[in-house]
Amino acid sequence: MHVDILTILPDMFTGFVNTSIIKRAQKKGHLSINLVNIRDYAKNKHRKLDDYPFGGGPGMVMQAEPFFLAIESLLSGLSIKPPVILMSPQGEVFDQNLANELAKEERLVLICGHYEGIDERVRENLVDREISIGDYVLTGGELPAMVIIDAITRLIPGVLGAPEGAKEDSFAMGFLEYPQYTRPRSFRGLDVPDVLLSGNHEEIRRWRRKKAIERTWLRRPELLNNVKLSSEDEELLAEIKGLSKGNR
Ligand code: SAM
Repeated sequence: MHVDILTILPDMFTGFVNTSIIKRAQKKGHLSINLVNIRDYAKNKHRKLDDYPFGGGPGMVMQAEPFFLAIESLLSGLSIKPPVILMSPQGEVFDQNLANELAKEERLVLICGHYEGIDERVRENLVDREISIGDYVLTGGELPAMVIIDAITRLIPGVLGAPEGAKEDSFAMGFLEYPQYTRPRSFRGLDVPDVLLSGNHEEIRRWRRKKAIERTWLRRPELLNNVKLSSEDEELLAEIKGLSKGNR
């Protein structure tokens, strides 16, 4: 996948693109990132691209022209137009389903806003979709762009060393993931559940499934409305509900 990121703060991405999975994905040829400094498309000599909002009010607004010029330059000569996505607290809320959908794209263009946002004519004429990473307002679109690229990159085939892990991650199957433990088996009197040391794969699978359902039911019960429960899942859920009532 190739990602073009339009930003006034390309330096914010330095650590991100040079670390961990994002670095490895680029090295292995699964991902390429092109940082476009929007200021390079500002025509005035101070490379300023914010201005006062028409109609008055607080703050500044990013001007449309540099975005038009940058995107026209990026898209010229491309036979297939990639989705142009604006980072925006007003957009559809990013989740695992959207990450899966975007991971199938060959190329994405991400626009990072700042100040009070970007002149609306950019959204109306250049943007295919707006994505929010949650119901809060950040200073700029750079962190949301990194969040989205990180979530998508893990899903690109060949990127993760242990791809089966991603299949069991929270949300991948509609549940939160079961609890994980590693060595030592006993630490300050705190023991790893016996079942995980039993070597009985079927019991371990069932325990993990039950814990995943239990966590989801206790922490994010609304997620259970969107998954198709197998008869075993129904049975486990009934056990959990019975147990939990007993424990209260
Ligand atoms: N005045 C805008 C509003 O109320 O919708 C908020 C502007 S915010 C200070 C500046 C930029 O940060 C936005 O243009 C957007 O690119 C980015 N941003 C802020 N919060 C975000 C979020 N939750 N998700 C995605 N992008 C966000």
